[in-house]
Amino acid sequence: MIEHSAIIGFFMFALGAIAGSFTNVLIWRLPRRESIVFPGSHCPVCGKPIKFYDNIPILSYAILGGRCRNCGAKISPRYIFVEAFSGLAFLATYIFYDPLSYIQIIRMIIVLPIFIAITFIDWEHWVIPDELTIAVAAVGIATAPLLGGWKNILDSVIGCAVGLITFYLVSILGKKAFRKEALGEGDIYLMAAVGLLVGWVGALLTIFIAALLGTIGGIIVMLIRKTKQQSDNISMIPFGPFIAAATVIVMAAGDEIIKAYLSLFM
Ligand SMILES: [Zn+2]
Repeated sequence: MIEHSAIIGFFMFALGAIAGSFTNVLIWRLPRRESIVFPGSHCPVCGKPIKFYDNIPILSYAILGGRCRNCGAKISPRYIFVEAFSGLAFLATYIFYDPLSYIQIIRMIIVLPIFIAITFIDWEHWVIPDELTIAVAAVGIATAPLLGGWKNILDSVIGCAVGLITFYLVSILGKKAFRKEALGEGDIYLMAAVGLLVGWVGALLTIFIAALLGTIGGIIVMLIRKTKQQSDNISMIPFGPFIAAATVIVMAAGDEIIKAYLSLFM
């Protein structure tokens, strides 16, 4: 067991909270086709720019009681939730990985904000912005050679094909079976990008875990909404959040899950 430092741990939490702050910008602006750079942060109600000291992750929201300093408009608790969750996710990444496997730490903290943004945007708007899918693919392409040379690059390319083809076939079959879209175009492209990130075995495992989580999520949502009388609620929730969660699980523990599964037969 390699020692983790408390100072670096705190630094990772703070970095995650800052990343969460930016993720909040993505969640609000990408589906509205606004620039993610200009203008700077402003209150969505009164439009007044937010001063830097009112824009400190987690703290500002807590100090101002989740309200705009200027007009007092209530600000969604999503802001503090995403900042705190992102901080904890970065901290967990640092604690979970051997500090020496820094490439895995770096790729995880780059994709975490992307997947958090995908989760919230797809949940609310039923769309996965292309920018985010391309960012996932770019991380996959950039880090594949660093994690294992040519063999790994080939694995990434096959993973991309496996993700694309599997989801494309499922979407066609889903349309035939349910007479409506079971998987959107955004899900298909995201799964292809995820294949680049996790390779072909990882892609299959991601699809399996996402389907499992999606089924559980679907049942929970159905119970909450109590819309059992509707026969078509099989596609009442978006699939992007489950692909995102499954990918993070596979990146963190895919090898261990596959080893545990194979050991059942040996
Ligand atoms: Zn305001």
